[in-house]
Amino acid sequence: MNSSCDYFYRTTVQKPSGCGIFTLYYQRAMQTPLSLLQEIIESYQSQIFPHTIAPHITTKQLEKRLHSYDFQEPIELATLTTQVSNLLKEGNLHVPHPGYFGLYNPATTQASIIADALVALYNPQLAVHSHSPAANAIEKHVLDFMAQHIGYSGDYYSCFTSGGSEANHMGLLAALAHQYPAYVEEGVWALEKQPVVYISEAGHNSFDKVVKNIGLGSKTLRKIPLDKSLKISLFHLEEQIQKDILAGYDPAVLIGTAGTTGSGTIDPLPQLAKLAEKYDLWFHVDAAWAGAAVLSEKLKSYLNGIEQADSITIDAHKWLSTSMGAGMFFTKHSTAVQTAFNIPAAYMPSHLQTEPYATSLQWSRRFIGLKLFMVLAEKGQNAIATQMEYQCQLAEYMKEKLMASGWLIINDSPVAVLNFTHPSILSGSISTDKMQKQVEQEGNFWLSTIPIAEYGKVLRAGVTSLHTREEHIDQLMDRLNQFVNS
Ligand SMILES: *Cc1c(COP(=O)(O)O)cnc(C)c1O
Repeated sequence: MNSSCDYFYRTTVQKPSGCGIFTLYYQRAMQTPLSLLQEIIESYQSQIFPHTIAPHITTKQLEKRLHSYDFQEPIELATLTTQVSNLLKEGNLHVPHPGYFGLYNPATTQASIIADALVALYNPQLAVHSHSPAANAIEKHVLDFMAQHIGYSGDYYSCFTSGGSEANHMGLLAALAHQYPAYVEEGVWALEKQPVVYISEAGHNSFDKVVKNIGLGSKTLRKIPLDKSLKISLFHLEEQIQKDILAGYDPAVLIGTAGTTGSGTIDPLPQLAKLAEKYDLWFHVDAAWAGAAVLSEKLKSYLNGIEQADSITIDAHKWLSTSMGAGMFFTKHSTAVQTAFNIPAAYMPSHLQTEPYATSLQWSRRFIGLKLFMVLAEKGQNAIATQMEYQCQLAEYMKEKLMASGWLIINDSPVAVLNFTHPSILSGSISTDKMQKQVEQEGNFWLSTIPIAEYGKVLRAGVTSLHTREEHIDQLMDRLNQFVNS
């Protein structure tokens, strides 16, 4: 929508007479907010490519524009819709862009967008089954499908969460309820020994937040060094467990990361499961990003061992093209979940221990699962698996191009993430931060940096947009090579 049209929306209330162009504007002005929304969605989805990725608007400019909204005079909804859409278009990073090689924020499909709209329309309350039998049944149907592909069977519990952080939070709470039943009523005072939790140095920082918030303290999180392949070092892990036992701590939880945020590496899950059994640890697998690969016959073997986990985190809003927030939590221990979350609430329509509000962190629950249901149902598992496999192939393509132009690949990820640097960077001729900022400012691509041991800050590129093709990688490579060849 061009700016003169915007101006028209703001100013015209009567039908202008005369020239044809005004008639056209008049028709636009008569659009209902919903038909306008449809136009906005379709035009954005078909024209993501010309947009620059990063926002070119300062916080000051944004604040100035927002000053005009003093919430006193009503604004006509179609006008408001256009204004807000423009604000979002100009003032945000465009993660669906094919040149977005950043962290895992997906390009959504129309199925996900329509699902979000339907959820807003019907606004079902998922706290209890009786209020929203259809919505709860749809969520269960999708979760059962995912659980089956994970390899869970029999008595398991699963629910949708706002994201991976909440699922990880639920995992730790369920683990504590399982390991220390007295903890639920008496808190950490009930524990004879201080529990400790194991995770690799590359594990997600949401766990730091959780251990702080649940009264264990950040020191209880033992960050185990990585081995040469950037996976948790099994040697250091077992050494730390034994040290902790000797020092009077109680090893309680082991977290395996399947797809580290920075490098996309997958910890050796079967070996971790064995160690967890040997030392009686609750085994949680944080597969927020890569867990979606259970849907691909070709990729799922990378996740072998996930089925042995006591609990699992998978985000739909990372690799399954649903909008944020859509996380999932799975555990084999439904009793632990009930111990952790069940509460008396006399005003609720049902006091059953199996109601969603009594088995999870949330209370009022948004119908999160519909977007994954619709994405899966619209495309089908095969097409979704093929898309994920294609993104992995694109990363391989980029890896070969990088190596052919003298770049060094630092990581070895099966899930479309590359960490790389160049002799010119290592020698100090140019810094990765400078390259990252410059690329961001130009607006055609977006990638991030990550510190990796002796290499310092290296560049990180993940193939995450549904719209990325070889040509975009070729263009990115041309740009990156200009930096190191100039
Ligand atoms: C993204 C991510 C998380 C956090 O999930 P949110 O959905 O952002 O809350 C946790 N662990 C890993 C490995 C992740 O990639």
